[in-house]
Amino acid sequence: MRMSVQADRSIILLTGDITQQDAGAIVNAANAQLAPGGGVCGAIHRAGGPAIWEECRALAQKRGPLPTGQAVATTGGRMKARYVIHSVGPVWHGGTSGEAEQLASCYRQSVRVADELGLESIAFPSISTGVFGYPLELAAPVALRAVAEALRSARNVKDVRFVLFDAETMKAYEAAAKAAPGAPQRGE
Ligand code: ADP
Repeated sequence: MRMSVQADRSIILLTGDITQQDAGAIVNAANAQLAPGGGVCGAIHRAGGPAIWEECRALAQKRGPLPTGQAVATTGGRMKARYVIHSVGPVWHGGTSGEAEQLASCYRQSVRVADELGLESIAFPSISTGVFGYPLELAAPVALRAVAEALRSARNVKDVRFVLFDAETMKAYEAAAKAAPGAPQRGE
């Protein structure tokens, strides 16, 4: 499914493995230590190879843990994507601890980092909806709204893809896209 944000800017929803994406950057649902872990983070470090962890380790040593909602870029290592943008999503604590704002910030900051790198395309996984426990049907509208907003003010980024790992996640994002106000869509 494609959502047009402006004539030349769009958000596309697809299913697949984000490590295979040919995009300027792919986003990692990282932990604060930027260490290889499970889920999409483990897959990205495995596919990209040790160069990513070397850069992550140096960044973490220099700057300390990455605060929730922020984003930093490293090489994409052996993957097609030139960069990995690491962003730390919120752990779900019931929704009254600022989780929605932190999740929106992950998407906004990641688009900003990609934009500053001069990239045209960026691919996101569904941040926080795995081990971090953010309910899918609540995360999807937050993610789509934050990306649509960030895309409107981006100078370089034109193509945002959500690479969703399973049918259930796709269903939640499709439902959120259909419900988004003022977001014209066409089926693909
Ligand atoms: P978090 O800790 O932020 O919740 P997870 O990695 O546990 O991150 O899960 C985030 C989402 O990424 C989940 O929907 C999970 O199914 C998905 N995921 C796992 N592996 C991949 C992959 N290779 N490509 C895209 N999405 C993936």
